[in-house]
Amino acid sequence: MSLSSHTDVENSPKVDLVIPVYNEEEAIAAFHRRLRAVIDPLPYSFTILYVNDGSKDATAERLTEIAADDRRVTVIELSRNFGHQAALTAGLDHSRGDFVISLDGDGEHPPEMIPQMMQLALNGYEVVLTQRVEGQQAGWFKRWTSDAFYRWLNRLSNTRILPGSGDFRLLSRKAADALCQMREYQRFLRGMVAWMGFQTVILPYSPAQRIAGHSKYSLRKMLKLAADALFSFSLAPLFIGISLGGVFLLLALIEVIYVLSFWVTNRQDTLAPGWSSLMFVLLVVGGVLMITLGIIGVYVGFIFQEVKRRPIYFVRRILSSSEESASPHEQA
Ligand code: UDP
Ligand code: MG
Repeated sequence: MSLSSHTDVENSPKVDLVIPVYNEEEAIAAFHRRLRAVIDPLPYSFTILYVNDGSKDATAERLTEIAADDRRVTVIELSRNFGHQAALTAGLDHSRGDFVISLDGDGEHPPEMIPQMMQLALNGYEVVLTQRVEGQQAGWFKRWTSDAFYRWLNRLSNTRILPGSGDFRLLSRKAADALCQMREYQRFLRGMVAWMGFQTVILPYSPAQRIAGHSKYSLRKMLKLAADALFSFSLAPLFIGISLGGVFLLLALIEVIYVLSFWVTNRQDTLAPGWSSLMFVLLVVGGVLMITLGIIGVYVGFIFQEVKRRPIYFVRRILSSSEESASPHEQA
């Protein structure tokens, strides 16, 4: 306590790093070394919150080792795999620092950006977003789907979501508390942060290669995230259904006028029995109804999930190497 350097650390801004990890046994130790190299010289007091999102490999053991020789590390172990967005939420909920930075535990979000992010935060920005540029490292498929996704999402939704923004961002305490108040089950944090507002600045970066292991975002998980984003950020899909329905109703009306014109000009006997055209219209209308009902169904499903008010994750245990010093993270 009497050490002046210690007092400096006490008075310096408290920064929490939230790092969700799922089956990262190969990458996590190297990641932590790289992280230390960046944060050790910085004049802030760091807490590193690793959220183990129900890893099935040796990630838990690796994290225990890391926590054993770095007192700043706290490991939050979830009861099962809840997904990236839920794991991030768990970390955010347990953070108490003046600033919270979230980044992936695989090295794709360069920790070397932290000093720059902190500089902007200390200059008064409440949200520091990072934007991936010239991502040659990511496969063409991931880049192409990501570009298309943001283009369409921004076309359909009222909330502007920065293309190429991942979940590598800094939030001030105020912004983090605001985000923690949003308890929806279908979570797309990028969109939620954009929706909140606050003084925001964008920091571009070129992504690094994953240290080891492979992406845990399967095509299925990517589609799920895209659906969460689309349906929870826009009602446009509902209107697509409705306008499609409208177009086909209009077609039906034109059809009626066309048929009537035969009657008016007394040519009704030249009209074919019309079975095929009738059938066609019937099928089309049926199809439109199905699409519309399907879209409504998705929203009803989402509403169902929200009204259950289920917690977003469950914590199995919290491992903190500085327990004896009454870690603030132990507070409920
Ligand atoms: N992750 C997680 N839970 C999951 C999937 C991923 O906590 O269900 C973590 C993963 O360990 C990594 C980060 O989230 O630290 C991003 O995942 P990944 O690298 O697989 O996604 P990508 O970078 O390919 O989009
Ligand atoms: Mg990754």
